[in-house]
Amino acid sequence: MSVVPFLTTMADAEADAWRAELQSALPEHRVIDPGSLSSSEARGVEVAIVANPDPADLLRFPALRWVQSLWAGVERLVTVLPREIGIVRLVDPVLGQTMTEAVLAHVLFLHRQMPDYLAQQRAGIWRQLDQPLASERTIAVLGLGELGTLAARRLSACGFRVLGWSRLKKDVDGIETHAGGEALRQVIRQADIVVVLLPLTEATRGLLDAELLDDVLPGASIVNVGRGPIIETDALLSALDRGALKHAILDVFDEEPLPADHAFWSHPSVTVMPHVSAPTNMKSASAIAAKNVQAYFDHGRMPDLVDRAAGY
Ligand code: NAP
Repeated sequence: MSVVPFLTTMADAEADAWRAELQSALPEHRVIDPGSLSSSEARGVEVAIVANPDPADLLRFPALRWVQSLWAGVERLVTVLPREIGIVRLVDPVLGQTMTEAVLAHVLFLHRQMPDYLAQQRAGIWRQLDQPLASERTIAVLGLGELGTLAARRLSACGFRVLGWSRLKKDVDGIETHAGGEALRQVIRQADIVVVLLPLTEATRGLLDAELLDDVLPGASIVNVGRGPIIETDALLSALDRGALKHAILDVFDEEPLPADHAFWSHPSVTVMPHVSAPTNMKSASAIAAKNVQAYFDHGRMPDLVDRAAGY
């Protein structure tokens, strides 16, 4: 039996619930609070499960080889963990399903002109707007990873024309795929709705800047379910204010919770969502984390690690 610390800055009750779930998924080992480890036990720790850990806590484990994150996004871990410690992020089909559902909801909300109808309702206006067919809309999905690929496929199945963009060229049935920096502008220029499902890295921070947002189709909208800093806030507000962008659905922000005085809250062309598109599911995430940890103890096999140079 090995000791697997669970490191988190969650409130106690939430951390206890996670620890209990992880423990029941990993019955052959002891999932414990790092505070209850003796120093000789701490010296033997090779793997930890983490969710927003305090980086100082990780320094207690000189033999630590890798950590299993319970989140899909690892931008913070990548900056705080020494390079020699491997990072495994959460890859969970349940998360993919949840994110796909959220992307569909956001895209259909925009496609069916709900922001306009809500504004009409507030003004007591009964007016039927021309409704384009799904096949007449182009949706760009930026990021064709675990989550983006599923979402792109589902949008395509709904009849939309779907363009996908990633760092390396992908082959996805029914999706027109593009890759690399130069292609981004071409993709953006064709999209009625741009869905951002990229990780936050040095390369993607501020990627959608004033210059790129100047290139969107007139009346285009944007959905950000990746990470807030991928879109420059001032550039986004300016594009919305001058009507270059019609609407933005934002689930992620530079600072979370979104500060009470932020312009997004009351902007008529912004829908604010409190980072809820694809929350980690405790049961499925614990099962996946446990399977990875068990395989390591059984066969010495580490799961796929985050590429520290690429940052995701
Ligand atoms: P993933 O599997 O690592 O996929 C990332 C995708 O982004 C890949 O297609 C990758 O290209 C592409 N990419 C990365 N850097 C790029 C660059 N510089 N230029 C072009 N493409 C680039 O990640 P995932 O599991 O799909 O998750 C994506 C992100 O969703 C997470 O990092 C997290 O920030 C966010 N997320 C949000 C929520 C929420 O509730 N809002 C929930 C979960 C996750 P390649 O395919 O070529 O590598």
